[in-house]
Amino acid sequence: MAGIAIRHVEKSFGRAQVIHGIDLEVRDGELVVLVGPSGCGKSTLLRMIAGLEGVTGGEIAIGDTVVNDLPPRARDIAMVFQDYALYPHKSVYDNMAFGLRMRGSPKAEIDTRVNEAAEILQIGHLLDRRPGQLSGGQRQRVAMGRAIVRRPKVFLFDEPLSNLDAQLRGEVRVEIKKLHQRFGTTIVYVTHDQVEAMTLADRIAVLRGGRLEQFATPYDIYNRPASRFVASFMGSPP
Ligand code: ADP
Ligand code: MG
Repeated sequence: MAGIAIRHVEKSFGRAQVIHGIDLEVRDGELVVLVGPSGCGKSTLLRMIAGLEGVTGGEIAIGDTVVNDLPPRARDIAMVFQDYALYPHKSVYDNMAFGLRMRGSPKAEIDTRVNEAAEILQIGHLLDRRPGQLSGGQRQRVAMGRAIVRRPKVFLFDEPLSNLDAQLRGEVRVEIKKLHQRFGTTIVYVTHDQVEAMTLADRIAVLRGGRLEQFATPYDIYNRPASRFVASFMGSPP
């Protein structure tokens, strides 16, 4: 297991600086939600943790390892996006098993892990189907299952539920919480939805314009907002 240390991280695209010196410690096994208005830098920060974007200043450590120069596949991280691509011609089982097979895991271990993930996500009855035969919510669960079977130390979610309707969002949220509790996985979860942040997070990081406005428990964010921006964004009473 591993925490994440973000130390004075900066990011510029050309001459535009979009992340300004962010410091953030995610504890081992903690579920941190990054929240903030569209364009504030949530995805960019997440992509830097994943290694899909380089940092232009500062450093990121996962566990004891500074990962600035490590490619994504060397970071022991799984990332789930809103637009997840499943293999349309493979069964749900094979979609979930694919990464482990590529890694050369033994068949019995693959079977155990796929079934365990399917049980957590309640898709055990869908393992023989193809993605085209599933609902949007079911496909999103398969995408999560594909990541879970790899047992990554760190899970990154970028607005994974924004394509789902309200009821499904609630259901998948529960699965994510279960996953967190069952494996003690460190999770960074991005959303622009305040309710999602309040219900999921151990701690919430509120971003605004590429800066960290507040990093605190949901209780403190709501009851002791650090600024008027946090109060109005999170819907705290005036
Ligand atoms: P969020 O996920 O909070 O909506 P993003 O991290 O996607 O915000 O974007 C933060 C800022 O960085 C935005 O102004 C966006 O236009 C800019 N940005 C993101 N990715 C790129 C890129 N590849 N090239 C140039 N600008 C980018
Ligand atoms: Mg985004």
